[in-house]
Amino acid sequence: MLEIYLDNNATTPVLPQAIAASNLAMISHFGNPSSTHVNGLQAKAQLDAARQRARRVLGAGAGQLIFTSGATEGIQIAVLSALNEVRRRSPSGAQARPKLLYGATEHKAVSESLQHWNQLLGLDCEIMAIPVDADGRHELDFLRIHASSAALVCTMAVNNETGVISDLAGIQQTLQACSSPALWLVDAVQALGKLELELAATRIDYATFSGHKLYAPKGIGMLYVREGAPFTPLMVGGGQESALRSGTENMIGIAALNAVLELLENHDPVFQSTPTLFSFRDQLVAALTQAFPDIVWNAPLNLTVPTTLNFSVPDLASKEMLDLFDAAGIRVSSGSACSSSASAPSYVLRAMKIDDAYAASAVRLSFGPAATQDEIDTACSRIIECGTALRRACLVPTDQPDVWRQQGLLRLESQGACCWLVTDAASGCCVIIDPLAELAQRIKNHVRGQNLRVLAILDTHGHADHVSARTALAAALADKLPQGAGNCDSLGWPDTGTIGITLADGEQAQAISVGELTLARTALRGHTADSVAYLAGTAESGRMAAQAMRHAFTGDTVLIGGLGRTNFTSSSAEDMYASLRRLAVLISEQCVICPAHDYHAQFVTTLSSERRFNPMLSRVLCAALPIPAEVFAKEKELVDSALSDHPAQVLLCGVTGKDCGNADDVRDDIHIRADLIKDLSHDLPDTLLIDVREMYEHNFIDVEAYDAPVLNVPLSRLAQHVNDWLGNSEQPLIFFCRSGKRGEAAAKCLRRLGHTKAWSLAGNI
Ligand code: PLP
Repeated sequence: MLEIYLDNNATTPVLPQAIAASNLAMISHFGNPSSTHVNGLQAKAQLDAARQRARRVLGAGAGQLIFTSGATEGIQIAVLSALNEVRRRSPSGAQARPKLLYGATEHKAVSESLQHWNQLLGLDCEIMAIPVDADGRHELDFLRIHASSAALVCTMAVNNETGVISDLAGIQQTLQACSSPALWLVDAVQALGKLELELAATRIDYATFSGHKLYAPKGIGMLYVREGAPFTPLMVGGGQESALRSGTENMIGIAALNAVLELLENHDPVFQSTPTLFSFRDQLVAALTQAFPDIVWNAPLNLTVPTTLNFSVPDLASKEMLDLFDAAGIRVSSGSACSSSASAPSYVLRAMKIDDAYAASAVRLSFGPAATQDEIDTACSRIIECGTALRRACLVPTDQPDVWRQQGLLRLESQGACCWLVTDAASGCCVIIDPLAELAQRIKNHVRGQNLRVLAILDTHGHADHVSARTALAAALADKLPQGAGNCDSLGWPDTGTIGITLADGEQAQAISVGELTLARTALRGHTADSVAYLAGTAESGRMAAQAMRHAFTGDTVLIGGLGRTNFTSSSAEDMYASLRRLAVLISEQCVICPAHDYHAQFVTTLSSERRFNPMLSRVLCAALPIPAEVFAKEKELVDSALSDHPAQVLLCGVTGKDCGNADDVRDDIHIRADLIKDLSHDLPDTLLIDVREMYEHNFIDVEAYDAPVLNVPLSRLAQHVNDWLGNSEQPLIFFCRSGKRGEAAAKCLRRLGHTKAWSLAGNI
């Protein structure tokens, strides 16, 4: 599939013209510009020509133009120069230190450099962030108040995450109006090639640029220094760059950058005109709106460069959107490349006071000025396909008739808490267990999209860490629930429509029929006084044998590698002890336990695995000599006392060791090389390749291209298939995804449960 690269704010591909220029610099013009022989003179001529061109393109006037390794270096030099000047002007012991101001949405290179050099030079200046308004523009009133006592003001020209264009004219006016003595640094990385720059005509003292943001390679950048602005070299040595930046020049990078600037200067058609860039954006906006009708733009389109779009699709996490786009061959990001692996919401969007829920869904799509009409057309049609895939998977509201029918168990997760949906597609009904408010919209979309009747919405206990979404969901899905569904107990168990069933210990329990499946309820006191378990399996002649139980929803009683806490006021460790021993009678060793929490992405467990990895449970269930209930209670008290209930943290509902179940035998030997799959599937023809990506991602792959049959079992549906796979532990299972992470998580889960032939495809597909 042809890749559509729409992450140009992170970095751009290198233009062929720039590659050709670099090659020439390596092959023919390889001299050192400081040498006095012909090769050196030739290189020096190239260097001078590149500098002259850069000066013209940037309107540098009489200012200095220094080649650097990139924008981060340029920022260091500018900050060091400005702060060294502060030191010079106000020697130690002098009165109040001036302030250092930077825009709250500035790239981290700026704020971190200010901290670093302020500390290193022992200045102790106050560093203040200039707030931005909801549009992402600097609060000029704040600047007005502080600019007269500031030594340095740093304001970027265009934001890398949102594309918001700063009001540099307004900032200049403000600085002039209050006769600010401050030096002014402008990070112009994202402006080059997108906005006209006439630096010498402004009050700007320092401006930084980066080659790899405009089709030159990484490792080359430029720093503009206004004539007369203070300067302190960061690097000294051979005196290159007029002794402003020592070190032999990166002639390969400079040649490439020069080639790009030549195209820019000559208005070469490789760079689209501004109206064309706007028309590209209009086209993308139309496609995105068609694909995701609820889309929200995180920055006003009339204040941004045409090449950057930052948007959120409510109730879909950035990661899900990125995975979807990636599967469709479109590369986008969730924010700046430096922070897109961090899970915290973007500080840029936070500074704009964008709701955390939207910030957590943010997607940045950025094309470059050299984008082509073909690329944009392909991107638009793929975006529309992405929208269709999301609707078919019922992740967004849909009235589409051809949704993907989903059978069996679905796990939804938020911050370690799990909600389970038990669905019988044939009879079109489901039961929802432990619904979370954060997932309520997703559950609604699913139920409505799949056109399911909701037989019951249940909780396994009264949750201490969150408010159940049960009542709100019942109201929102009233038309999907049976008449009189309001008549239920405090955990949602219906008063009517249940059947009587005998469990393996002889208990007469109540149950609900979910198609062929029977879901029985039994008390499981301990974690809380109201804790219950819902046991799903097949009933025969009104009985459910332990072997017939496929899934056990045990709430917070059995966690993965640990037990639910028993130090709430309504807890009882003795009751938990009795419940655990009863559970071992009601379900088999291989019954898949689906907990209400999964703190370490281990998905599900079984009693057999817990005996192996959960020492406490194993001693309770020991057939020969179980520990007495009083000993269990004492030990449990000690373990629970280690749980810290910090108000700022999510309340932990139990203790689970991070490594519990990731013992060495699970961790080792989990990866398999792609080139071995062909041999393996030849020797063992029942080898299964399992794509654990979500359906909307799998939809885009070419199944024929693989060396073994490919099954799609998204991680959210793993629990449904675990029983079958554990029942045939000789069948090789090879899990894969995009980056290898989800595949590895699935393989680890199966290994932990005792499947010895579960692997994860090493690396990327
Ligand atoms: N400033 C902005 C606005 C950027 O987008 C980047 C790149 O991510 C930088 C600075 C750092 O540039 P470089 O990678 O050249 O050091």
